[in-house]
Amino acid sequence: MGYTVTLIPGDGIGAEVSDAMRRVVEATGVDITWDEQQAGADVIAEYGTPLPDHVVESIQRNRVGIKGPITTPIGTGFRSVNVALRQRLDLYANLRPARSLRGVAAAFSDVDLVIVRENTEGMYVGIEHEVIKGEAAEAIRIITRRASERIVRFAFEYARTNGRKLVTAVHKGNILKITDGLFLQTAHQVAADYPDIAFNDRIVDNCAMQLVQRPHEYDVLVMTNLFGDIISDLCSGLVGGLGVAPGANIGDDIAVFEPVHGSAPKYAGQNKVNPTATIRSGAMMLRYLGEIEAADRIDAAVAQVIGEGHQVTYDLKATRDDPTAVGTREMADAIIAAL
Ligand code: NAD
Repeated sequence: MGYTVTLIPGDGIGAEVSDAMRRVVEATGVDITWDEQQAGADVIAEYGTPLPDHVVESIQRNRVGIKGPITTPIGTGFRSVNVALRQRLDLYANLRPARSLRGVAAAFSDVDLVIVRENTEGMYVGIEHEVIKGEAAEAIRIITRRASERIVRFAFEYARTNGRKLVTAVHKGNILKITDGLFLQTAHQVAADYPDIAFNDRIVDNCAMQLVQRPHEYDVLVMTNLFGDIISDLCSGLVGGLGVAPGANIGDDIAVFEPVHGSAPKYAGQNKVNPTATIRSGAMMLRYLGEIEAADRIDAAVAQVIGEGHQVTYDLKATRDDPTAVGTREMADAIIAAL
């Protein structure tokens, strides 16, 4: 069976890691037609926006997309294309697994966590303004019962389907009493529908500390948008860093897969960065499409190449300047050979 998938290569290192992913996915033999679309700063001159309607429509048509990272200017300029895409397509669940890989130097060897991040509201609604020019500014954080309920339900459904035992709601309900109070209260109500899965909650700062010291006390973690952004990067640091961390943005009947990392502009065009995060995102996409065997083969090939430790990029070597590190393309070649 063939599939048409929207591919947004992204900018910065996006083109390189997307090309690596594409070659690995194609090497599984699954029949995919790539509907390639461009978004980000480079298309503004032509379309007047970094996220043209035809890009969104391509994903709506194909129902499945995969993207490389897209740069967002800091402190000025256009709003994040990545955030806009999640909001416009209502991709409300950001799923970010963090599992230890053999051969990766890390504090623990058996971490297995799944971060479920709310993807449509919270601090990311983009309502921000200056109250007194140059002196005071304000950002609005929106939390709704509807979005809280569906993200917590997603976490429990994921736990049930994937044989997970515990869901932890992560919050700052002691300070953000009303917004995170609503999130937490809703989480407790949803948890009552899942008596087969254990449930607890943690204040986010304590949770961050405990994840670094005792990650084994956690399993599936569900949280609002900003906390999910930060905690998922922390968890990727527990298992080898951003170079290996895949992700998925999932809605009711559309999904867009992407690595956790950004566009790392300083490495753009150097054939240097790790393609694993995007390749594993490709495996998550294949799993979503029902191509379980192909996804398993990619995950096994990635594990083999990283486990052997020879054909890997600089970030997976013991020292960052190890001259035996290979490039993005060469690591993808090794993964294809291992398939
Ligand atoms: P980043 O993820 O680009 O880089 C953070 C650090 O991780 C850097 O040291 C970088 O070199 C390293 N890194 C990232 N990807 C790597 C890889 N594949 N292999 C090896 N090392 C890797 O984050 P940043 O510097 O905070 O952001 C850069 C830009 O990316 C910003 O414009 C930001 O808005 C954007 N961004 C986009 C997305 C997305 O497209 N979903 C996500 C995060 C950040």
